[in-house]
Amino acid sequence: MVKDGSKHIQSLRDGRQIFIDGRLVADHTEHPAFRNAVASAASLFDYQAQPQNLEKMTFASPTSGERVSRMWQLPTSLAELVERRRALESWAELTCGMLGRSPDHVASCISGMYMGLDLFERHSAQRASAVREYFEYARDRDLYLTYVIISPQADRGKDASQQSDEYLVAGVCDEDREGITIRGAKMLGTSCPLANEVFVGAIQPLKPGEEKYSFTAMVPLNAKGLKILSRKSFEEHAVSQFDSPLTSAFDENDAVLYFDEVKVPWERVFVHDDVQLAQAQWHGIPTHAYQNYQCQIRLMVKLRFLLGLAKKIADTNGIGNFPQVRETLGQLAAETAMVEGMVVGMEASGYHYGKYFVPNTALLYSAMVLTQQLYPRFVTTLRELSGGGMIMLPSSIDDFTNPEIARYIGLTQRSPATDSVGRVKLFKLAWDAVGSEFGSRHLQYEMFYAGANMVTRGHAFRTCDWARAVGLVDNLMSRYELPQAEPQKIT
Ligand SMILES: Cc1cc2nc3c(=O)[nH]c(=O)nc-3n(C[C@H](O)[C@H](O)[C@H](O)COP(=O)(O)OP(=O)(O)OC[C@H]3O[C@@H](n4cnc5c(N)ncnc54)[C@H](O)[C@@H]3O)c2cc1C
Repeated sequence: MVKDGSKHIQSLRDGRQIFIDGRLVADHTEHPAFRNAVASAASLFDYQAQPQNLEKMTFASPTSGERVSRMWQLPTSLAELVERRRALESWAELTCGMLGRSPDHVASCISGMYMGLDLFERHSAQRASAVREYFEYARDRDLYLTYVIISPQADRGKDASQQSDEYLVAGVCDEDREGITIRGAKMLGTSCPLANEVFVGAIQPLKPGEEKYSFTAMVPLNAKGLKILSRKSFEEHAVSQFDSPLTSAFDENDAVLYFDEVKVPWERVFVHDDVQLAQAQWHGIPTHAYQNYQCQIRLMVKLRFLLGLAKKIADTNGIGNFPQVRETLGQLAAETAMVEGMVVGMEASGYHYGKYFVPNTALLYSAMVLTQQLYPRFVTTLRELSGGGMIMLPSSIDDFTNPEIARYIGLTQRSPATDSVGRVKLFKLAWDAVGSEFGSRHLQYEMFYAGANMVTRGHAFRTCDWARAVGLVDNLMSRYELPQAEPQKIT
């Protein structure tokens, strides 16, 4: 039995503590702040469970034999990597790339960890078996995982241990024979209302003496003591699907997580008391590369969607044949194709880590740097193409129900390509994508989800093949020398 949407929604009714607008939420799957996003997440599982999609979206778990999502597949060749990508791409298409932390993101992260079991084994047999067993547990249940791996902003000029409160940053405050106890905060738990469990870890470097912050643990979102402090729900403030088609469906939510003495058993602890392993778990094995490869697949789909939106905006406004507008659209098309090319390129030039096939990290990090810079420009271009069209809109669908206003909408909303309803529908969607609170949060997301641009540029520096680049320069320079000076004439 492949996991479907209703099974997923059922699994979310677990008594977790989500706080929003001053209240503790009783059942978030029914709450107006979260229910549509929950339904969108469920629709991903419904899609994979449809008989015609089974082969594309799922594979047989090596342990249970049951079919589970391809997000758990561990490719051993380029062909398998591409096969897995096609499944991830299909999921991203269902949400137009608008679910940043869809289930395949953290599944990719812990798949990368599983590929790197050798690293954990070198550190501790217990921690390695925790990774191995948890991966198989999550895969065989097709769990939706999310993560919190960043310390909350407070004083960024100081390290985790130097903050005003020892447990501002989540740390291990106690441990015993059963496991560890975590106290403190992490930012930002995206998709917590949609997910089953959260990966808690530290990706920001820690120094010797900061061992209490150097843990990685898997925590069910209903764990005792775990408080999910939601940001404002955009979904709840959406007037209707027609007015806010993206906000109303894909507001995946972000939350500060507070661990108020949360106990985690040892078999769910991957890293403990080890600042070196806390870093190496990301960059010494395929973890970081694998999770961010998923991001580029999703972003590729999102750019295709925005490109389509740009074309429809131009056609709807009758500007699509102006040479300058065609050039603008050509630029967007080229940028979208560049990202597609980088995804295909990082796959084609991938490498083996042990028996597993992993995308080329230098190309991946280059794509991350460039797409963080590209996204703000891309959405600005959509704004430029739209002009006031995204603002010159009826206040809500209710305007259509008033015959007098509806008549004026018909008189004022005109287009060479569609009727007045079609025009309003398109520009409401465009505003939702790039201008609404939801769209604005997406801009922030694409700029920061994997760290500030200085961080991703650091990864591009670290993984660049400098020897090849510098070798070309040295090779050329070795072909010539300073000409010998003419011997001076002695008179
Ligand atoms: C919408 C959204 C969703 C997110 N979802 C998740 C999630 O699901 N899980 C998760 O773990 N995290 C998540 N994050 C957090 C994300 O990983 C961080 O935002 C990112 O790592 C950057 O950290 P920061 O926000 O603390 O910014 P900072 O690191 O504080 O950087 C902000 C700015 O401060 C300046 N700055 C900071 N440090 C330095 C320095 N050393 N030198 C020079 N300048 C500096 C730079 O201008 C930088 O751009 C999310 C973030 C957003 C915006």
